[in-house]
Amino acid sequence: MRKLAVVAMVVMALMTTVMALAQDEPAAAPDLKEQTMCPVDNKPIDKAFFADHEGFRVYFCSQACVDAFKAEPAKYMEALKGVKLEAAPAAPAAEPAAEPKTE
Ligand SMILES: [Zn+2]
Repeated sequence: MRKLAVVAMVVMALMTTVMALAQDEPAAAPDLKEQTMCPVDNKPIDKAFFADHEGFRVYFCSQACVDAFKAEPAKYMEALKGVKLEAAPAAPAAEPAAEPKTE
C-alpha cells in the first residue's frame, strides 16, 4: 500500500499547486479600493449621482455634490487618490459603434 500513499501525496501536492495558482489571480491594483464615499462630503455614495471626469466615473451622495465636483473637479479628485474608479463608459451616440465595415 506504499504506492498508494505516494500517489496520494503527489495528488495532494498537485492540488496544492493548482490551488496556489488559482489564488494567484491578477490583482492589478491591490492598494486601490472601490469608491464607497462621496469625495465632496465623505458620505456613502448613491450611484444615481455621478460625473465622468478624465475617463473615470465618480460617484456622489447627492446632485449637489455632483455640481460641486463639476465646479472644481481637481480639488475633489485629490480626495479620490487611492480609490479605484470605474472607467467612464464611452460617450453615447457621438459616433456609431466601431464596427468593421467594408464599404
Ligand atoms: Zn456628497
